Amino acid sequence: MSIPSTEATLAFKSEATLGECPVWDEQVGRLYWIDIISGKLCRCDPSSGENVAFAIGSPVGSFALRQGGQGAIIATEGGFAFLGFDSGETTPLSDPEPHLPGNRFNDGKCDPKGRFWAGTLSCDNEKDAGSLYCINSTLNITKKWDHLTCSNGMAWDTDDHIFYLIDSVNQTIHCFDYDLETGGISNQSVVAQLDYNNVLPDGMTIDTENKLWVALYNGSAIIRLDPSSGDILYKVNVPVPQVTSCTFGGPDFRELYITTAREGMSQEEIRRKPLSGSVFKAEVPFYGSPASRFAGKKSFGSY
Ligand code: CA
Repeated sequence: MSIPSTEATLAFKSEATLGECPVWDEQVGRLYWIDIISGKLCRCDPSSGENVAFAIGSPVGSFALRQGGQGAIIATEGGFAFLGFDSGETTPLSDPEPHLPGNRFNDGKCDPKGRFWAGTLSCDNEKDAGSLYCINSTLNITKKWDHLTCSNGMAWDTDDHIFYLIDSVNQTIHCFDYDLETGGISNQSVVAQLDYNNVLPDGMTIDTENKLWVALYNGSAIIRLDPSSGDILYKVNVPVPQVTSCTFGGPDFRELYITTAREGMSQEEIRRKPLSGSVFKAEVPFYGSPASRFAGKKSFGSY
């Protein structure tokens, strides 16, 4: 039986080396996303095509919008920091891995209590060198898991009882019991192990029916996966190979926004897939939910 599918279309043209971390701001109807390698956080207005870029000054792996607006918490090469949207300035918070200069932060997301979770990876692809961290509303950082090679997409189920985490290089989607009150994870198991040659699960989101939407890097697609069976239920085809992440947005959270990359592609490959690095979108017959925002209040020396 063929899998139901749809085609993604161009939302915003870009030549991002590694577009990632799409976040829809439902308060203003804008899509935030980042280019990890160039260290830019961008805010795009899909209706006008306007794209405002904030230069971070170093690679930035992920971010979450802060409660109350005015900025984001970002996970960079040098640890966690705040970014002010008015000033464009970054304020360093803390680096849990000062002893690992070859690591950088990668994907991250806020849990429903407003804690920001982000994982690290070795820039030299060293196996098991990454860890998963959580920074809470009082800006305390806890290491939650380790032995990750390429910490990537995350999602919490709508009951807040399950946490999903992708390790891309191992092609694995992990699942944990989740304690919303404490932020504790336990009882790790594997939801799915993809075995497509050279295709890596990357970023991830979840819909209101608790199905996972997984970006396939080198796979030109997003798949909708049933975490209880591992079955692929729906597919969004994307006209470029390096599909990195996705999130629901638009007025009713039925538009799937998709980031892509062009890292390591030859001139010939880019000539064939010239939209690589752009942001795409697809209308899908499913719904997402607003992204959780970071609850930490400290800013520029005061709470
Ligand atoms: Ca990623």
